[in-house]
Amino acid sequence: MMMNQEAYASNILTGTTCFGMLQDDPRWQVAADRNDLILLCDSNTEKLCLPLLRELLFTDSGVPPCITIQAGEESKCFGTIEYLMRALDQHGATRNTILVNLGGGVVSDIGGFAASIFKRGICYVNIPTTLIGQVDAAIGGKTGINVGHAKNQAGTFYFPIRVCIHPLFLETLPETELNSGLGELFKYAMIGASFSLKQLHTLATNTPGALNDIISKCVQYKEFIVTKDPEESGLRKVLNFGHTIGHAIESSFLDMRLPVTHGAAVAAGIIAETYLSCHLNDLSHQLLEEATGFYLDHFQPLPFEGGTEASVLGFIYQDKKNSKGAINPVLLDKDGHPEWNSSVTADDILHGLRYLSSITH
Ligand code: NAD
Repeated sequence: MMMNQEAYASNILTGTTCFGMLQDDPRWQVAADRNDLILLCDSNTEKLCLPLLRELLFTDSGVPPCITIQAGEESKCFGTIEYLMRALDQHGATRNTILVNLGGGVVSDIGGFAASIFKRGICYVNIPTTLIGQVDAAIGGKTGINVGHAKNQAGTFYFPIRVCIHPLFLETLPETELNSGLGELFKYAMIGASFSLKQLHTLATNTPGALNDIISKCVQYKEFIVTKDPEESGLRKVLNFGHTIGHAIESSFLDMRLPVTHGAAVAAGIIAETYLSCHLNDLSHQLLEEATGFYLDHFQPLPFEGGTEASVLGFIYQDKKNSKGAINPVLLDKDGHPEWNSSVTADDILHGLRYLSSITH
């Protein structure tokens, strides 16, 4: 496990002034003066976000060399890591180079992982361009890749020196990807991160600009939790609510070549895990109904077919959050607070999945 926790303190810059603050950072100035910055994009962010970054950050200087990977979850793999190691070398990267990840969660997960191992660790900056990236993936120092279709099986805790969250990047984001971000916002609302499902519902029907306030709340909440428990030995696990089942759903559909967005899978996982919280922890059915209503209002039903349940269960057993064969999702207690030491059986999971499938058919 790799940590550079001291680099974590107050490293998140939000709003339209974030790039000015980045330019004031002495580590950035040194690397920029030496032409020692390298960008990482995916095929979409190179086209849609790099021109904006040029205007916002590189007006007075040339744009640094850029490494581009194919957009999409399939790029989060060992093959891409090897490609990145070689590409960094070809671009003459040294231990002093700063890698600048411009993209969504795939770019920050894989770029962060590459930064953590290249020459035993170089500095990196995240510039998240998706809603998921801005509220979650780019902050908190978790990096990783999938092994096969099992999510994030290899990775490190390795913090970016800066995260710049600029609202303008969301303007080119397609509706499906904004909606995917709503899946993580749904999680934050359910675990009590200073806004309710009702507030989220109102905001979700508004323009992306209206999300700014909620993005700040998520950033503050995640920063608070991560500062208390950077290596996820306890409290930080609450951020995984919906993800034990959600990740397995995402992997299963990827395996069936019917990819669903990360947020849509997490939202489905939240419903199944809220159902389990009612049945195992006496959580009020009213909250389950509210969550189910929110889910049905904002997400397309997933195409569950014969065999999907078994496949989901198979992936659940590969989840890192489990210990010694037990399945350990985060559940809500009877007062709606997340608890991270739950243990459930395969049958419980099947019941959760059947509830999910029953509300969407
Ligand atoms: P993503 O990076 O694949 O982005 C989604 C799509 O949007 C891609 O096609 C991308 O090219 C495109 N895109 C990105 N920015 C754009 C823009 N501004 N305009 C137009 N298109 C744009 O995925 P994501 O939804 O950002 O993140 C999901 C990934 O993040 C998953 O792999 C998930 O496991 C990971 N994640 C990690 C953490 C963490 O703590 N490390 C937390 C949550 C999610």
